[in-house]
Amino acid sequence: MINIGCHLSTSGGFLAMAKHASELGADTFAFFTRNPRGGAAKEVDPADAEAMMEYLREHNFGKLVAHGAYTMNICAEKMNVREFAWQALKDDIKRMEMIPGNYYNFHPGSHVGQGPEVAIPLIARALNEAMIPDQSTTVLLECMAGKGSEVGRNFEEIRAIIDKVENNDKLGVCMDSCHIWDGGYDIVGELDKVLWEFDDVIGLDRLKAIHINDSMNELGAAKDRHAKIGEGKIGLEGLKAFATHPKLAGKPFILETPNDDEGYAREIALIRSWF
Ligand code: FE
Ligand code: FE
Ligand code: ZN
Repeated sequence: MINIGCHLSTSGGFLAMAKHASELGADTFAFFTRNPRGGAAKEVDPADAEAMMEYLREHNFGKLVAHGAYTMNICAEKMNVREFAWQALKDDIKRMEMIPGNYYNFHPGSHVGQGPEVAIPLIARALNEAMIPDQSTTVLLECMAGKGSEVGRNFEEIRAIIDKVENNDKLGVCMDSCHIWDGGYDIVGELDKVLWEFDDVIGLDRLKAIHINDSMNELGAAKDRHAKIGEGKIGLEGLKAFATHPKLAGKPFILETPNDDEGYAREIALIRSWF
């Protein structure tokens, strides 16, 4: 039994998005909490949010994995950029309580030359300010490919952020297969070792969700270009062994592959067939 889905558009509202997921054969999904390129968040209609929550319960959906905006850089050097990002993070976490009990995943950020030693404490401070006591949402740090000056390029950087967040019981990790492959973790040749290392450095109890993507680039390329399942350098067999590894059992899987609806439905069915 697994929960699998893909990224969906919020344009028709929450309930419509959940119904769209069902049509694709999904029983979880991801969506952007605001325009992925930045800007203001759409007003949440409480009745629509409640209607979606009921639909998710009735149709046995797993936890949703909402995604913060790509442009939200909470460790930015420029004060105006950083302040906007801190506000967005705070606002996103607050609004997630309208669809309680789900996941909110985001990219830790880019240090843009300041170095991870400066960026990591900034990320932790932003989280310390944004996280609400007794929140129902678990906030997830996404493992990154290491493109440019991305923070979270290895398990140690993710661990360093978690260690600096005071109230970290509602803090977890989202593992993206394309990102860790690009980050140099050989999930094809040494899957057991990679997952052992994750457990050793971060702890598997922190692992809450999986982004399942193939990669257009070679191991360690630090490029972050997603490919369709089986059409990239990780390949079909590598992704199958990854997805069905017992240490990942029970986590929601989200596809972020370059697909239309038809392609997503096909990949959702393909991954289900592995179980
Ligand atoms: Fe992401
Ligand atoms: Fe991802
Ligand atoms: Zn990516």
